[in-house]
Amino acid sequence: MSPNIHLLGIEGMSSKQILKILKRSDFFLNVRKKRKLETLKGKLVINLFFENSTRTKASFEIAAKSLSAEVLNISVANSSIKKGETLIDTASTLNAMKPDFLILRHPNSGTALMLSKHVESSIINAGDGRHEHPTQALLDAAVIRRKKGNFENLNVSICGDISNSRVARSNILLLKTLGANVSIIAPPTLIPKDIDKMGVNIFSNLDDGIKKADIVMILRLQAERMNGTETPSRREFHHLFGINEKKLKNASKDVLIMHPGPMNRGVEIDSLLADNNERSLINDQVEMGVSIRMACLEMLYEIRKNLNE
Ligand code: ASP
Repeated sequence: MSPNIHLLGIEGMSSKQILKILKRSDFFLNVRKKRKLETLKGKLVINLFFENSTRTKASFEIAAKSLSAEVLNISVANSSIKKGETLIDTASTLNAMKPDFLILRHPNSGTALMLSKHVESSIINAGDGRHEHPTQALLDAAVIRRKKGNFENLNVSICGDISNSRVARSNILLLKTLGANVSIIAPPTLIPKDIDKMGVNIFSNLDDGIKKADIVMILRLQAERMNGTETPSRREFHHLFGINEKKLKNASKDVLIMHPGPMNRGVEIDSLLADNNERSLINDQVEMGVSIRMACLEMLYEIRKNLNE
């Protein structure tokens, strides 16, 4: 099997590969501000975003520029472009510009894989529908590793809209690969069918699901991907699943909280908790996003270079 020049998901990645990226991101965290690296000098990175994004898009841009790449941003959010031929047409046009990397975000699951079959550049999946968001899971793991050291037997509870979350899926895959115990907590309508096959504990009651948690990952209601029937009222959701300091009483004493953003303060997360730097890793997540994306770009660049030698 030829080495994978794309990063489409956590599925299929080994713990060795994951840990290598996490370690490398630590290196970038330390050197990024001190000196500019030339790894991607003369390379072109295109950010192709079919959905809105602030953090992820900016983070990929900063990561690529920190490695001296040229960056082109193309946003097609809110346009009527749908999956299928139109995307492939766009991709063929871009392909003709010979980018080395295409960073793709798209509302439909499986789009990154589809695109990878039509272009010569390396594709990095920056979120495809409900499917995967691998760099988010990697940056979350890098933050956890710095704070907790080890994943073996670490208790991680993921709370909120699991059904519509690519972040939850990528995180479950990654955390299970590294040996953590993962619990999900959600209203029954927001628990995906077959999730038990991923080896997680399933809870519809917050107090039970949070018991002994070392990390609580909080997710927003992703209304843009809901079909109406599953949408709970924000008030009810807040009452039953919104996390504040008091509701963490059953968790481990030094529990830490995470959120991939964007946050809906006062719905899934209490504002005081979000801003409590003793508990909240939210800013660390944003900071680590750049280093992890540098590590991913470098990894794929090295693979391509070795293939061409
Ligand atoms: N930013 C994350 C994503 O793109 C989480 C979210 O949108 O709620 O999936």
